[in-house]
Amino acid sequence: MKILLIGPQGSGKSTQVLEQNLQIPYISTGDIFRQIAQQNSEEGKKIKQTTESGKLVDDQTTARLLEKRVKKSDCQNGFILDGYPRNLEQVKLIPDLNFDKVFFLKIPKEVALDRLLKRGRNDDTEKSITKRLALYYQQTEALLDYYKNQGILAEIDGRGEIQSIQDEIKKSL
Ligand code: ADP
Repeated sequence: MKILLIGPQGSGKSTQVLEQNLQIPYISTGDIFRQIAQQNSEEGKKIKQTTESGKLVDDQTTARLLEKRVKKSDCQNGFILDGYPRNLEQVKLIPDLNFDKVFFLKIPKEVALDRLLKRGRNDDTEKSITKRLALYYQQTEALLDYYKNQGILAEIDGRGEIQSIQDEIKKSL
């Protein structure tokens, strides 16, 4: 089972601990980048700078790192992906992700902003958040139509309780 979670920053994608339930790994490109950003390598420094300023890492680098991750043996039975693809270019770069189901966690912009300001991650400054949300609405929302046309999109209200959102996701699998 290959699952994609889409939603604005703060919609709770990483909170949905589905991996224990579904026995497939949860993969977040943001987590991958945060790990690399801790390394003292050239790549690490570059990625740290990019993520902390609220910009997106370039599509080629992102695709290369994600492809490496999903080829690992723990992904044999699938994965829950959070953070890739973020635009149609990224869809084209790894055409064989073949999701079975795409969940859109929908929340209003004000709620997203409010949650992020409270979260306080390193890259959660107001300036960076505003930039990331704008990029999300410009680029990532376009993917919704793409997956809707494939008949695999399910829309979930992201404002509910964690447990009820999880139940809803599991029910539609
Ligand atoms: P958020 O959704 O709040 O932006 P993430 O943890 O998903 O947080 O990502 C953190 C950062 O990692 C992003 O701001 C971006 O710089 C980078 N990133 C994550 N996924 C991608 C992607 N698919 N393409 C480009 N950059 C990405």
